[in-house]
Formats: sequence, C-alpha cells, structure tokens
Amino acid sequence: MNPAVNPAPELNPRSFYRLPWSLTDNGISWLEITDACNLTCEGCYRPHKVNHKTLQQISDDLDVFKRERKSDCMSIAGGDPLMHPQIVEIVKMINDRGWKAILNTNGLAMTRDLLKQLKKAGVAGFTFHIDTTQVRKDSRAKVEGEHNELRMKFAEMVAEEGGMACSFNQTVSWDTLDQVKDTFIWARKHPDIVNTIVYILFRSPRLTGDFDFYANGTKVSMAESYENSK
Ligand code: SF4
Repeated sequence: MNPAVNPAPELNPRSFYRLPWSLTDNGISWLEITDACNLTCEGCYRPHKVNHKTLQQISDDLDVFKRERKSDCMSIAGGDPLMHPQIVEIVKMINDRGWKAILNTNGLAMTRDLLKQLKKAGVAGFTFHIDTTQVRKDSRAKVEGEHNELRMKFAEMVAEEGGMACSFNQTVSWDTLDQVKDTFIWARKHPDIVNTIVYILFRSPRLTGDFDFYANGTKVSMAESYENSK
C-alpha cells in the first residue's frame, strides 16, 4: 500500500476511550478534597490536617481534569471525603459536570440520612476502605474475615437505597496475605450487592539497607524525610 495515497490516520489520544489507558485517558480520575480523617491507618500518607478544599478550589481542580483528561468516573478521596462539610454539594457538582462520582470512604461518618442526600446528589457508588490496619470503633476485628460483618452492613445499606455501586478496598501486607481468601470468598457469595473488592499492597519506604538516596543531587536521609512527612 502506498502511504502517500493512504496516509495513516491522525490519532488524538483525547478521543480514545478506555483501553489503552494513557495519561490523558483514565477510566477514573482521583480528586482529593480534604486531608481530614477520623481514622489513623497504618501506612496512610495523608497528614490528617483539617484543611478542606473550598468549592472554588474543587471547581478549579475539575476544570483541570476536564481540560487534560478524559475520564468516566471521578473518585472522591481525602482524607475521608465524608469529613468535608460540603460533600453533598461536591458530589452534585461532579455529577452535573458529567462524571460518575465515586466516594472512597472508611464509612465511619456514613449515616442513612447522609446516604439519601448523596444519592439525591447523584453519587454513582462507594468504595469502602475497611481492613485490619485500622483501629475502628465500629469493629474490633483482629483478622480480615472478622470485618466481613461490618462490610456487609455497608453493602446492605447501599443496596437498600438502591441504584448505587458498592465496592471495598483492603490493604494487604505480609501479615494479612493469607487472609485475602476470607474477603474474596465472602464477596463471591454476595455479587448482587458487593460489586468489586480491591486489594492494595501495603507500601512503605525502605529505610534501611545498602541504599543511598539523593534529592537534587544532595544525599538525603530517607528515614528523616519519612518521619517529617508523618
Ligand atoms: S481511612 Fe484513608 S485517609 Fe483515613 S487514615 Fe485510613 S487510609 Fe488514611
């Protein structure tokens, strides 16, 4: 075939949808609206300050997403986004701009009334972060399977309101690797109300060993940086 006669079509990555995902085309964009949280999970990278973004700042963030990316869903994260006093307005804003709003929450601040308000505002679904790296007041589970009762409570609550997806996140470390099956088997028994379960590998910087770390050409102490970031 003569390329002069049949030139290759010009590809615009912003016109791609889903696979292959690229910097400009992500199935899900990630919006952090606050550092505040009502839990302290091992391995959390947030500073836990009460510094909620204003609606204007969030609107500006959304403008950037709209300009630079093509996403189907907007994951609303924090901190815990339910700590933001204007969470209902934020969900509405995202929904009005054409994204599916997904709330990533530990669920502690969730009430039936708030769930109804979020549904009315157009929330598409929830991802509840529940695992044994947390010290929760609503579950005293010592192993992952013991948290399934709490997971079920949220799954049923969302299902009873209807029309919203329900997913769960679980951090997995060496200590809990052999417990993955306990949530997996539980989730498989309830596919009608547990839509997704996500396993996140626990990550933390390696602070010891034969490694030198540099920032802008200067040797730095990784242990010190990690401590200062807490
Ligand atoms: S629930 Fe999320 S934001 Fe809160 S401490 Fe845990 S990981 Fe961090």
